[in-house]
Amino acid sequence: MTLPRKHLFDLPEGVLYLDGNSLGAMPVAAADRATRVIRDEWGHELIKAWNSADWISLPKRVGDRIGRLIGAPEGSVATGDTLSIKVYQALAAAMRMQPHRRVILSDSGNFPSDLYIAQGLADLVGQGWELRTPAPEDVADAINDSVAIVMLTHVDYRTGRLHDMKAITRQAQAAGSIMIWDLAHSAGAVPVDLAACGAEFAVGCSYKYLNGGPGAPAFIYVRPDLVLEVQPALAGWMGHEAPFAMSHTYQPAMSTERLRVGTPPILQLSVLDAALDVWDGLDMDSVRSASIALSEAFVAEVSRLCPDLRLASPVDPHQRGSQVSFAFEDGYAVIQALIERGVIGDFRAPDIMRFGFTPLYLDNNDVMQAASIVGEVIKSGIWREQRFQTRAKVT
Ligand SMILES: *Cc1c(COP(=O)(O)O)cnc(C)c1O
Repeated sequence: MTLPRKHLFDLPEGVLYLDGNSLGAMPVAAADRATRVIRDEWGHELIKAWNSADWISLPKRVGDRIGRLIGAPEGSVATGDTLSIKVYQALAAAMRMQPHRRVILSDSGNFPSDLYIAQGLADLVGQGWELRTPAPEDVADAINDSVAIVMLTHVDYRTGRLHDMKAITRQAQAAGSIMIWDLAHSAGAVPVDLAACGAEFAVGCSYKYLNGGPGAPAFIYVRPDLVLEVQPALAGWMGHEAPFAMSHTYQPAMSTERLRVGTPPILQLSVLDAALDVWDGLDMDSVRSASIALSEAFVAEVSRLCPDLRLASPVDPHQRGSQVSFAFEDGYAVIQALIERGVIGDFRAPDIMRFGFTPLYLDNNDVMQAASIVGEVIKSGIWREQRFQTRAKVT
């Protein structure tokens, strides 16, 4: 099944883009909106645009639109900053809500920034706080009544393996732990129902499957009944109940907006707002079935053409997100050779070749063509050529 949305994106001729899991493609509306915001709003309205173009409520409007894609009720998602900062805020808030426990439980497959932030916070706070990172498949067994916070990324950025969000949340809460989900590779990729799952916090970014553009603002969700218990660790003026009262004492907003920090990035938020139009009228279940059809076709064809490549993702499509990975020692060089032939995937150390499936702008034809080019590159050994060996700063 193909979702008829390709015309909403501006993709370069001759490119098969299988990296929307890392940086989403550009919606046509995003470029138009950027021009309009820069020229008409910033250029002509200047500072008046905070009111005249309603810049001031853009963070909340965009948060509500993201919320609809992850099953979060109106007003429960705040936007801004980067995901690393949202991880910090969720963790710091959860740590203050758990005065009698000292363990943050994550897993060894989590994204480095999430683990660095957790370790940094544990070191800063001291008092015996520690970070534990068992293998992803051992997390469930590691949940016990010493664990203050379970902080996991729903879809593993390397392998695409999915954690069972509902089951782990239930288990964490039964043990008295607070649950934080990182939805970086879930929002816009797989159906998520935060309200039904009941997790206390969730965070994510908007430049992957949400196509918000490089460095687009992140989001944070707090379960509505807990908002007033959250004491913001980054008590910035934009999270204040009345920022323009210019009070010398901090009074957090009585809503999720208390997790905002400083001046919102209006250019990026506007672009993201326009990019979110591509989801209008879509439900995540149809996106998910289209994504599964694409990844299954790709895996079958690549495995047929290259029987020696090892699938590093779960074989069962229901156990993985919207990407598949193959492990190959010279994966970096293979990806470079693929990019030269118009197939864009990416590489994650030490040996993972990643391919993302974004049914909004990829169809079966694209995927079969990409698989056949993977077959050619591997069979011909062209990737052995010197020019594919030198690693760029970004892989
Ligand atoms: C992409 C990603 C990040 C990146 O964080 P930024 O602050 O946006 O650079 C963090 N965590 C996870 C799980 C990711 O997938």
